[in-house]
Amino acid sequence: MNSEELKKFAVEAGATRARIADLDRLRGIETMPPDLLDGFRCAVSMAIALSDSIIETITDRPTPIYASHYSRVNALLDEAALRVSRYIEERGARAMPLPASQVLDAERNLSFLSHKAVAVAAGIGWQGKSLLTVSPDFGPRIRLVTVLTDADLVPDEPLRNRCGGCTKCTDACPAGAIKNVNTDSHYASRDEALHFERCLHHVRDVCASMENIKSSICGVCIKVCPWGAKKRAKAA
Ligand code: SF4
Ligand code: SF4
Repeated sequence: MNSEELKKFAVEAGATRARIADLDRLRGIETMPPDLLDGFRCAVSMAIALSDSIIETITDRPTPIYASHYSRVNALLDEAALRVSRYIEERGARAMPLPASQVLDAERNLSFLSHKAVAVAAGIGWQGKSLLTVSPDFGPRIRLVTVLTDADLVPDEPLRNRCGGCTKCTDACPAGAIKNVNTDSHYASRDEALHFERCLHHVRDVCASMENIKSSICGVCIKVCPWGAKKRAKAA
């Protein structure tokens, strides 16, 4: 199967960016079930860029329009993943589209696997201090989805981490959850970068107190990252 043609199709199917991760880079990460990756060789990682105007409505908490946008983009990602899976299957390989946003372990906020980890392995972006995948073009203003496949594809290379001395997300986090620790490639565990419980409890408390917000979302560290704001500055 031609990897470039597949990525082109993924963009036609709705992805803003599509790249391929070598699953050997991800062996050993936590998945549900634990043998989820068995028999697969690569993952197609797809990102859809979020609306800047909607992200800009976020101050110290999520907004109803961001909550609606979040759900809508997840639906578009699921559709793109389904179409890419069909494309792969029609060419004789196996493909499994994983849901963009389905929590399987509410206590630890875990899903089938981390789409962010796949996106970092595929070079969609690097792992930021906030643990978000930071794209050079859109910052963390993206949402992600993954298709696992046994197709013989050419994997893309991960990107160099460019957080450097930036402390914007650490300074802005209303829960004081980001530890401001740098990494060259990826953190050994999320606890290395984040007081995860602080983030989780803050997000749940804030969302529970807001009438129009049903998902557990925040958006503050997404909004403040200069790599996302950069795109708007360029366009001005
Ligand atoms: S999602 Fe919100 S609470 Fe969690 S790390 Fe980002 S800014 Fe902090
Ligand atoms: S705000 Fe700064 S430190 Fe945080 S993820 Fe973005 S570039 Fe990295």
